[in-house]
Amino acid sequence: MVISKEIQEKKEVKMVPRFRFAPSPTGGLHIGTARTALFNWLAARSMNGRLVLRIEDTDTKRSDRKYEDSIIDDLKWLGLGWDEFYRQSERIEIYQKFANKLLNEGKAYLCFCTPERLNDLREKLLSEGKMPGYDNKCRSLSAENVEKNLREGKKFTIRFKVEDGDILFNDLVRGNIKFNSKVIRDFIAIKSDGTPSYNFAVVVDDSEMEITHVLRGEDHITNTAKQILLFKSIGRKPPFFAHISMILEKDGSKLSKRYGATTITQFREMGYLSEAVCNYLSMLSWHPRDCEEIFSIYDAVSKFRIPDISKSPAIFDTDKLNWINGIYIRGKTVDELVDLCTPFLIRGKVIEKSDVGNEEIMLKVKKCADAFKDKIKVLGEFPDYAVDLFRDRINNYSKEADEILRLETSSNVLQFFLKELESTLKSHDNNEGSGIDEEIGRKLIKAAGENLKEYKIKGKFLYMPIRASLTGMTHGPELPKIIAILGLKNCIKRVNQTLKYLENN
Ligand code: GLU
Repeated sequence: MVISKEIQEKKEVKMVPRFRFAPSPTGGLHIGTARTALFNWLAARSMNGRLVLRIEDTDTKRSDRKYEDSIIDDLKWLGLGWDEFYRQSERIEIYQKFANKLLNEGKAYLCFCTPERLNDLREKLLSEGKMPGYDNKCRSLSAENVEKNLREGKKFTIRFKVEDGDILFNDLVRGNIKFNSKVIRDFIAIKSDGTPSYNFAVVVDDSEMEITHVLRGEDHITNTAKQILLFKSIGRKPPFFAHISMILEKDGSKLSKRYGATTITQFREMGYLSEAVCNYLSMLSWHPRDCEEIFSIYDAVSKFRIPDISKSPAIFDTDKLNWINGIYIRGKTVDELVDLCTPFLIRGKVIEKSDVGNEEIMLKVKKCADAFKDKIKVLGEFPDYAVDLFRDRINNYSKEADEILRLETSSNVLQFFLKELESTLKSHDNNEGSGIDEEIGRKLIKAAGENLKEYKIKGKFLYMPIRASLTGMTHGPELPKIIAILGLKNCIKRVNQTLKYLENN
């Protein structure tokens, strides 16, 4: 049989897998929702499919444009693009058209029950230990009564008729799932203000947008049962469904605000890198078959398969995220790190916004980035590490530093070191001595060490007092790097400050 080119093309168009990510703009991009977005992105890209971003904003009371903007901003930051964009609030007429069709076909009816009646009904059922749900009262309203209610201007919703029977579907992650429709009562398709209910809008859209795969959180499984009924009623085949497990805290509780950051915006503000967040999120309920742990989402595209998604809940492990973030930080060049860290230094008031154009200050930032690169796990820690080196003086000597400085040999070390600093400064063209590199730092320590040989002072008796006098601490980056960051003049100030401290305390 010869298939015409036209038919063949049409067939191919139909066969393109279509995924969608459908956030409700009622808050920022939650870590779990971001993982759903990422999985949809990975699935769509790995199957050469398309990804639809659909903003589900029909709940006008809870939705806000500022959250939509923030979700979009976070998706872009994560590097997750989409092929098509829709906003449900702009599609109200389409939902109404579908609902009217259901009404005409007798698959839905007008319900005039007031919120008060529905509330009383709910409370009554609960007090009797029964499952709350609608009692289908308006299903049997006569045409005359419907007319009368409409004439009286009574408010109404459009309710979908749930017929008895089993609802079966094969979840691509969880296997066969069965519901009995008895547990689902007639539910609202169009609310009294004319907007669609969540389930109705989703089905109309998934059908109109020719979505082939619905990949979302397992909290939607019961909605899936309702949605399958709706798909059937509008005469469309339901898409494939895949429900991903929840993300839990280590103690098994739901990931919640109680424990700190839950939105991508918060993780960004703490100084996580987008590559690290994506890498980590991709491993919540999925891992590549080769068990690699560090990979970009672009590498993951070729490895991602929906059936490999795990059924068990994912545990959010901040230590692992920090470890991964540290790896990505170390993978950055110093210049990239400077760009990434600068906003954190400004926010931490270590430098001013106007300092960004100051070559000397930015050189210092660069030296700091190089010195602390191996230590920082999140960029937000950087100001804490750097702040002391941006001050003129030492704020505080730690207990350990104080002990080192009080050793009999320490003042001697500092005197010699000071002499070296002063003579180097004299021979230096920049009178702040700020443009020095760590090589000069190394030479300075070596020269002080040479002079101290006759006193048999070496090793930690040499390095530790110098470190303590320059930083007030006994640990930190390599000494030559500290000297290069501080510059000669600031080193001199600090050693003098330390000598005074020893005299007076
Ligand atoms: N808008 C829904 C939510 O944010 C998602 C709906 C869906 O994926 O079907 O939870």
